[in-house]
Amino acid sequence: MNDALFDVDRIRALDAADPLREFRNDFHIPIHDGAPQAYFCGNSLGLQPKGARAMVEEVLDKWARDAVEGHFLEPAPWMPYHALVRDALADVVGAQPSEVVAMNTLTANLHLMLVSFYRPTRERPAILMEAGAFPSDRHALESQVRFHGFDPATDLIELQPDEADGTFSMAAIERAIAQHGPRLAAIVWPGVQYRTGQAFDLKEIARLGHAAGAIVGFDLAHAVGNLPVQLHDSDADFAVWCHYKYMNAGPGAVAGCFVHARHAQTTRPRFAGWWGHDQTSRFKMDGHFQATPGADGWQLSNPPILGLAPLRASLDVFARAGMGRLRARSLELTAYLESLIRAKLSDTLQIVTPRESERRGAQLSIRVLQGRGLSGRAAGRDLFEFLATRGVLGDWREPDVIRISPAPLYNTREDILRFATETDRWRTG
Ligand SMILES: *Cc1c(COP(=O)(O)O)cnc(C)c1O
Repeated sequence: MNDALFDVDRIRALDAADPLREFRNDFHIPIHDGAPQAYFCGNSLGLQPKGARAMVEEVLDKWARDAVEGHFLEPAPWMPYHALVRDALADVVGAQPSEVVAMNTLTANLHLMLVSFYRPTRERPAILMEAGAFPSDRHALESQVRFHGFDPATDLIELQPDEADGTFSMAAIERAIAQHGPRLAAIVWPGVQYRTGQAFDLKEIARLGHAAGAIVGFDLAHAVGNLPVQLHDSDADFAVWCHYKYMNAGPGAVAGCFVHARHAQTTRPRFAGWWGHDQTSRFKMDGHFQATPGADGWQLSNPPILGLAPLRASLDVFARAGMGRLRARSLELTAYLESLIRAKLSDTLQIVTPRESERRGAQLSIRVLQGRGLSGRAAGRDLFEFLATRGVLGDWREPDVIRISPAPLYNTREDILRFATETDRWRTG
């Protein structure tokens, strides 16, 4: 059994027979010592789609050729450029087209959403979030609480994980919502937790939050492009995410934002800009703000076209592959990674990510226990660096976790086998 798991010829044959194998050719795979790197950092910066360069060059050429008229001239005029990504993006996140917009960056969008949807009162001042959240989310939420004159010590409630590996049971989330419900103005929760890789039942969290009278927003930085999300059906009020992780749209790519259709014509306050103004009268320039219905109404500025261009190439790949097929492949790849670790490396590596496939995406977060006479953090750093010099790139999270994320668009079973055999070599070497 173990032999079959580690049989490189068998693994290569499986890769060669994979119905999604050709999508790897759509990406630039980094080369390490003359061979393709086993790149497992798609959760941090996804690889470059080969189509991205042409999209960027098209913008540069248009700018050189047409200058200001590029705003209006076909193909792909810049005025409605953000609308070019709308339908494909809505597909990836399970939303109606009018519910999504590509704009700004993740943290900026989180603030814009909180301005509209976090409306604390003396009776209901609090936000519930997960303890150990990505720092930017915590900074955003804490500063919003302070901005409204409330005290993060009491009004930013950080739920501690209740499970041994730092993950959350649904029961713990439910208890926290029941306990704090009457004081909750908002719940902001991740789709996939960046450190542990735990995926959450968004629909259930939204249901519980709404029943308690809170607004519910999701940060999908590690979920979008990783596993199927059904944002509209989840009933979330808003969601934000970036496009440079599993979405492969490049460093600092323009981010995404979802506002549920029931808020399309909201009278809630917002921080407004001219690009959110109703398009039919935007250029009357008359100083009176009238929001475009839907997510578009939260736009501030004319978008950075050069930052949006690679997203078109990325979405083209997702549209051809389909999130359903990608998820099926992802489940297989991650299960293979897990089975290699459990078969041979369990004295060295401990998987932190939940075992149940519906509670995780592509990523396994792996704690390094010991090896080569080292333990804990020292062992982890040593293994991480050993792997990197062998062309196997994961990413390191203090104090002792290596995150390995097989991306279903471009990673192979052979990449995963290389991780396991190199780890075994480190351990026994
Ligand atoms: C990657 C990530 C961010 C990054 O924020 P930017 O505004 O894109 O720099 C924020 N929050 C979470 C949860 C992330 O995973």
